[in-house]
Amino acid sequence: MNPSPEPIEHHLAGRRVRPTGERLIEVTSPHDGSSLGTVVPAGAGWVDEAVTAATRAFTIWSRTPVKDRAQVLFHFKHLLESRIDEVAALASLENGKTPAEAEAGIRKGLEVVEYATSLPQLMPGEILEVSPGVDCHSRRYPLGVVTGITPFNFPAMVPMWMFPLALGCGNTFIHKPSEQVPLTALLLADLLKEAGLPDGAFNVVQGDRATVEALLDHPGIAAAAFVGSTAVARQVRARGEAAGKRTLALGGAKNHLVVLPDADPEVTAKNVVASAFGCAGQRCMAAAVLLAVKGSEAILDRIEEETRRIRVGTGMGAIISARARDRIIGYIDDAAGAGLRIRVDGRGARVDGKPAGYYVGPTLLDEVPADHPAACDEIFGPVLTIVRVDSLEEALAIENRSPYGNAASLYTGNGAAAALFEERAHAGMIGINIGVPVPREPFSFGGWNQSRFGVGDITGRDAIAFWTRTKKVTTKWVASASRNWMS
Ligand code: NAD
Repeated sequence: MNPSPEPIEHHLAGRRVRPTGERLIEVTSPHDGSSLGTVVPAGAGWVDEAVTAATRAFTIWSRTPVKDRAQVLFHFKHLLESRIDEVAALASLENGKTPAEAEAGIRKGLEVVEYATSLPQLMPGEILEVSPGVDCHSRRYPLGVVTGITPFNFPAMVPMWMFPLALGCGNTFIHKPSEQVPLTALLLADLLKEAGLPDGAFNVVQGDRATVEALLDHPGIAAAAFVGSTAVARQVRARGEAAGKRTLALGGAKNHLVVLPDADPEVTAKNVVASAFGCAGQRCMAAAVLLAVKGSEAILDRIEEETRRIRVGTGMGAIISARARDRIIGYIDDAAGAGLRIRVDGRGARVDGKPAGYYVGPTLLDEVPADHPAACDEIFGPVLTIVRVDSLEEALAIENRSPYGNAASLYTGNGAAAALFEERAHAGMIGINIGVPVPREPFSFGGWNQSRFGVGDITGRDAIAFWTRTKKVTTKWVASASRNWMS
């Protein structure tokens, strides 16, 4: 461990600022355990500075016409595209995913930027003559200073679910990245500045729980968007709402994939494996439980073959921390201890030249009871739990019992089965022969049940509603006093 790692800056009022504070959190690269610096969590004082900067910027930015705000987002999009390798390399360095995975996440985030550049077409209100000479019109207004609190697993993409639309709608933004991946946020802040965003319109405060609580409690912040685990999402939503903030909090997941025997073995095997082990299983849309309907054995054999082809370190990245790695291995140990069938065992994975990296290989557990922790808890690692079922009905019953509800997918060649699954699965994002059914913009991203606390999805039209409030204006330009409001 580096004895004096560099403190990682905040980004306030358009510049990087050296932090001060008592507590230090060391940040390491999951690839090899090397030190990347130290987060010095922002307390209430730093948060207040960020709010002051954002409040000052709000007077300029909120009065900038939406067409001009969209131009800044266009510039940001072009800048980010032209420097995507640099941003992806940084996201990969601090998160542990492969550079290709990091780039894919940024490109998904760019879709939201692209959508936000359409705000001049999406934001206008409505107008109607409601009685002779009397018009009503509505207009959307930004909320003010808002905040976005994000998890470790997508250092660029998840923030980009939030800030392009929040900024495009005229708000100013304070981003609190995960203390495990604090660096990409700073580069995004630099790019936004270079794109022409006024100083203070986008700020980054580094920190952990204490920083989040200071943000949620600050009376100068109007709204909070959060993405992270379910336990924290629930707390954030409650605390934000108690402090009078509009709050949307996306939580964790345990996604079910159902395989019917009539599914195409090649397509299904490749797709299931990509869903379960992409980003080392550390994504909220990852396949976690495979419900294999009787007669699917040949497909399961193909899934095992595909799983064995994955090379840790090149085809699959690292786990975010040693602690997370040990937690994931604990689930595999428990399964082994319970005598469950381990078709592929990822324990003991090593990458040449990186003995201190945090790695778990792809793992396939089979014939797991539906109520076993490996089939119910969010493991958030490269572990796919296979549960055998007799029918699609039984699979749906298990899926429906899950407290989560982000994604659910079905593999089949049967349209009627697909229609039944679409109707009956309890999840916000459904895939048919697709294992990571992330909706492409303009379709919005958001789950059901304990995968989301609050109203609406985090992108798309729901986001425009979330980041704005409307004024309804009634005007009467009739000279005659004899006409009343209703005439
Ligand atoms: P996390 O909940 O530990 O942390 C998320 C954020 O909350 C971080 O910025 C962290 O600093 C902060 N935080 C942590 N504990 C806190 C507390 N007690 N009070 C206030 N703030 C706190 O999540 P993580 O480990 O960074 O990310 C993984 C989780 O995020 C998984 O559960 C995953 O499913 C979920 N996730 C969900 C989605 C979605 O769209 N639903 C997307 C990505 C990740």
